[in-house]
Amino acid sequence: MSPRSGILYLVSGPSGSGKTTLCRRLSDEGEASYAISCTTRSPRPGEENGTDYFFLSIEEFKGKITAGEFLEYAEVHGNFYGTLTSEVINTLEQGNDVVLDIDVQGAAQVRATENLTVKNALVDIFIMPPSKEELLKRLTGRGTDSDEVVTTRMKNSLEEMEHWPKYTFRLLSGTHEEDYARFKSLLHGERLRIIRHH
Ligand code: 5GP
Repeated sequence: MSPRSGILYLVSGPSGSGKTTLCRRLSDEGEASYAISCTTRSPRPGEENGTDYFFLSIEEFKGKITAGEFLEYAEVHGNFYGTLTSEVINTLEQGNDVVLDIDVQGAAQVRATENLTVKNALVDIFIMPPSKEELLKRLTGRGTDSDEVVTTRMKNSLEEMEHWPKYTFRLLSGTHEEDYARFKSLLHGERLRIIRHH
């Protein structure tokens, strides 16, 4: 019997939807490998280079664009973010699942890819916060961002939420435990699929 190939579990949703927590937990529990993104934004307190992100200067980031190292990249909240192809392909080819926490622009690029390994592995899900009020509460509650940053993120989040119909799956966020249980079940269900051709 041929072993199953890896799933590329692409997760989007506005800042404050809780998607990063879901993705990290999936990876911490050994269910999937978290693709570490590159970013030009500054680290938040507690964030580590090479664990949370690869923190790059704009020049370094542009160098990687020129070298064709990104599967996708986009400008989000005024900074560049991108996924290195190297963070994804080998893992998928080894039959392991990869979880990708990226914005709606990046998701559109991944969907449009010609790379068959990526195309056939893709499962995309949008995490919806329960309400605008709850979203604002979560963005403010983070406590690490200035008022200006929170205002920009809230505006962008509301715009980002318009994109959910482009995804195959949508998870309406409830409690952390409910969200995680459903998030993990979907991945487990998808592992049983025989063919995933888009
Ligand atoms: P944060 O700055 O809060 O860590 O992330 C901001 C936004 O950038 C989130 O919506 C996150 O999903 C998105 N993001 C993180 N990494 C990437 C990436 O590699 N590519 C793209 N397109 N978006 C990313």
